[in-house]
Amino acid sequence: MEDSFDEDCDYLFKAVLIGDSAVGKSNLLSRFARNEFRLDSKPTIGVEFAYRNIKIGDKLIKAQIWDTAGQERFRAITSSYYRGALGALLVYDITRNATFANVKKWLKELREFGKPDMVVVLVGNKCDLGQTREVGEEEGREFAEKEGLCFMETSALENVNVEEAFLHMINKIHEITSQKSL
Ligand code: GDP
Repeated sequence: MEDSFDEDCDYLFKAVLIGDSAVGKSNLLSRFARNEFRLDSKPTIGVEFAYRNIKIGDKLIKAQIWDTAGQERFRAITSSYYRGALGALLVYDITRNATFANVKKWLKELREFGKPDMVVVLVGNKCDLGQTREVGEEEGREFAEKEGLCFMETSALENVNVEEAFLHMINKIHEITSQKSL
């Protein structure tokens, strides 16, 4: 699915969430799409997605954001998950170094299956847990700069930078897409 037309919007974008299990992907999405935080664990296994409409200038953008919904536990993310995606939030947990170390692996996969000009935002989630932090903010930022990614630390729990991270990605996608259609 690309920047195709939809009856009630000007553009429809697909973007994906990616990263290790339990880094907070589902909660970031429910916070962004429905302004909710779920304390319980995930009810279902399988790919899920949510929509949100965003106005940029005079255009109405419909963002369709896909969540792995636990599939990454079984290494079951396939190329169809990435197909047509124009953006990705690559999420790690700032309190678990292993999830940051795995960012390299996720990036490799994104670059293998995703579009070459995909907008990638590296997201260090759970910044409300500063006292058990294992990954420094500078470490995240430096890695992102080196790899040409945008970077943000977020908290789905306390609703810090969640809106900003998604909107940054969506705005960048819109910028690239509207330049292409000129
Ligand atoms: P996913 O497997 O990556 O989709 O992760 P989930 O969204 O299911 O979250 C995994 C666990 O981390 C859950 O127990 C959430 O309550 C918790 N969690 C998610 N985001 C945050 C956050 O920003 N701060 C804190 N403290 N906990 C979070």
